[in-house]
Amino acid sequence: MTMTEFLELGLCENTVEALEKKGFKHPTPIQKKAIPMLLDGDYDVVGQAQTGTGKTAAFGLPIIEKLENTDKEVQAIILTPTRELALQVSDELNSLRGSKNLKIVAMYGGQPIQEQIRQLKKGVNVVVGTPGRIMDHLKRGTLRLHTIKYFVLDEADEMLDMGFIDDIEDILRYTNPDKKMLLFSATLPRRIMGLAKRYMGKYKVISVKSENLTTDMVEQVYYEVRSSDKFEALCRVIDINKEFYGIVFCKTRAEVNDIANKLSAKGYFAEGLHGDIAQNQREKILNRFKAKRTKILVATDVAARGIDVTDLTHVVNYDIPQNPEAYVHRIGRTGRAGKRGTAITFVQPDEFRRLKDIKRTAKTEIAKKDVPSIEEIKE
Ligand code: ADP
Ligand code: MG
Repeated sequence: MTMTEFLELGLCENTVEALEKKGFKHPTPIQKKAIPMLLDGDYDVVGQAQTGTGKTAAFGLPIIEKLENTDKEVQAIILTPTRELALQVSDELNSLRGSKNLKIVAMYGGQPIQEQIRQLKKGVNVVVGTPGRIMDHLKRGTLRLHTIKYFVLDEADEMLDMGFIDDIEDILRYTNPDKKMLLFSATLPRRIMGLAKRYMGKYKVISVKSENLTTDMVEQVYYEVRSSDKFEALCRVIDINKEFYGIVFCKTRAEVNDIANKLSAKGYFAEGLHGDIAQNQREKILNRFKAKRTKILVATDVAARGIDVTDLTHVVNYDIPQNPEAYVHRIGRTGRAGKRGTAITFVQPDEFRRLKDIKRTAKTEIAKKDVPSIEEIKE
């Protein structure tokens, strides 16, 4: 019996069966710590572990175990920073639920609100949503959170980065004081601990330390490239890695469009993803990428936040990230769930100071490499 580790954490047979189906063999460190504590239910919890280490299941599994669908009111609300993440988290929870009869739905802007209202009337147990749309429902009175058991902030650091603090505080006003509050995050900046102190009851902090902030599963390199040579360098990186399947990060939406178009024109399977693209389009683009029909996703930071595609081979920073946190988040898109990946950063001659800053703050080594030569590609 290989699944005993999950049973030992206190999960029931039905859940463990679902995990077996998903191919989970062992709990991750954050899951080992968080699951028993949340099943005990004595504390609010702040959980920190680097990206790609299974935080969703760490809070999702205990919530699924604890809830019953006999209750018609919404019992848990999970807030995520982006629409894509809301969808991704609700998908993950639905697959973790196994055969347990719980209604778990994603609710975010850009989807027709009437349809959501209809669903809520029929009865929903768990809502996974973005702050704006949740606020909208609360104001309309179509969503009520005054009897919830769980209030979860997922990717809390990103939520604060994106300026959602006021929305979060507004939403909290609609909730009952005796709920359990959970906050999960890749990093724990002081502002997050402030949020915990202000709004949590008796709470515990669970932290999974890692030597460096970036995962060891990611090989990190940089190329020195002039701005005018970047596109050629990108093509060579893709050409030399026959199995290339990755995200190319750009600074602006216009650049995303430009690079995606130029790649497509050269015959690569590439698409662009950014905030100006309509929501239903974004979902389609993401689904094609997940299905590997598109091999290259060119994206802005916001569009690519938290996207969980497990077997990316590469992350390319076409433009060096604005700050070290963005670097950590970007390269966290690869090297997930035990698979190896490579992160390549293009550094312009005038950007070395920024590179140094990233290395120092993220406590990581980034090795200098040369752009692949035409000869190497032909081999
Ligand atoms: P995080 O929120 O920490 O960035 P996710 O919850 O998105 O990470 O999980 C990353 C990936 O790892 C997902 O595809 C998830 O299904 C997978 N995963 C989570 N827990 C396990 C596990 N115990 N064994 C194998 N894969 C797992
Ligand atoms: Mg997550």
